[in-house]
Amino acid sequence: MSEEEKEAPIEEKEAEKTEKRKKEEKGVFTLYKIDEGKITRLRPTCERCGPGYFMADHGDRYACGHCGFTRYKQTEK
Ligand SMILES: [Zn+2]
Repeated sequence: MSEEEKEAPIEEKEAEKTEKRKKEEKGVFTLYKIDEGKITRLRPTCERCGPGYFMADHGDRYACGHCGFTRYKQTEK
């Protein structure tokens, strides 16, 4: 069984890489949300590193930039 694979000519164009600059404020103020005296952590902390190490939000999962620990979000209703 040998199927002839059609190799489409790939045009290698040097695409101009436009670096998207995310306006991401890196600060502790973005991690906390103070609501009527209550402090709410917007992001979970790493289970390995302990409290103080926040995990980055990657959409469907959280990742710790310190140890690389990844935790998937629980989609419980
Ligand atoms: Zn960690």
